[in-house]
Amino acid sequence: MNFLASTPRPGPEQAAAARARLATGIEAEAMACGARTGRPVLGRAVLDAIRAVPRHAFVPGLPFEVAHEDEALPIGHGQTISQPFVVALMTELADLGPADSVLEVGTGSGYQAAILWHVAGLVHSVEIVPELARAARARLAALGYDVRVHEADGRLGHPQAAPYDAILVTAAAPAIPRALVAQLREGGRIVMPVGEAHGPQALLRATRGPGDRIAIRDCLDVRFVPLLGDG
Ligand code: SAH
Repeated sequence: MNFLASTPRPGPEQAAAARARLATGIEAEAMACGARTGRPVLGRAVLDAIRAVPRHAFVPGLPFEVAHEDEALPIGHGQTISQPFVVALMTELADLGPADSVLEVGTGSGYQAAILWHVAGLVHSVEIVPELARAARARLAALGYDVRVHEADGRLGHPQAAPYDAILVTAAAPAIPRALVAQLREGGRIVMPVGEAHGPQALLRATRGPGDRIAIRDCLDVRFVPLLGDG
């Protein structure tokens, strides 16, 4: 990749065109994996969100064109901003409506949280690395996204605002944390990668039934950074 060949930051029309291309690529990828994910066609609200959120603002220092590729990218502190297709798919699998409240675990750059803001009513996001939490909070506010960013260990969720209609975890753990299931309302969805820290992981979608019962669907093979924390 030749960073020197990148052009200066383009105007609003070129930016919109880059996001429209990204959304078109995501639609094609969703169709290609549709048999596995169960979602060959993504909802309009999810695609509109991809077309609306300026991903380049979430990866400062990277060239504009690179920011609009359908790839995970480094955001410092050993962390990454997820691949846009995976962001779109996780949002789709959460089945959010405009009145829903959602918790994200792993704010990172704030990009997924901004996408959630477009499709849900209330967005809380928890980040364990203080510098990332502060930077994402400031970035989201500057862009006009009303996302509540909390600096905490997201394995415990954010009980103060529970129950949630959906919880998205954007880092992998060996199993779905019980505390998160407990913070879902009945019928609520949790979408998260489960598997080895640096090995194979499956993107799971679990629905909470009565009590603590959950019904799980395995939606895709994925690679996420591990969910951090002791014990
Ligand atoms: N959703 C992010 C990408 C997440 S990368 C985005 O759109 O940019 C995973 C993030 O989870 C990292 O920022 C990492 O610091 C954070 N993280 C890891 N373990 C965590 C934990 N226990 N609680 C909260 N955040 C955690």
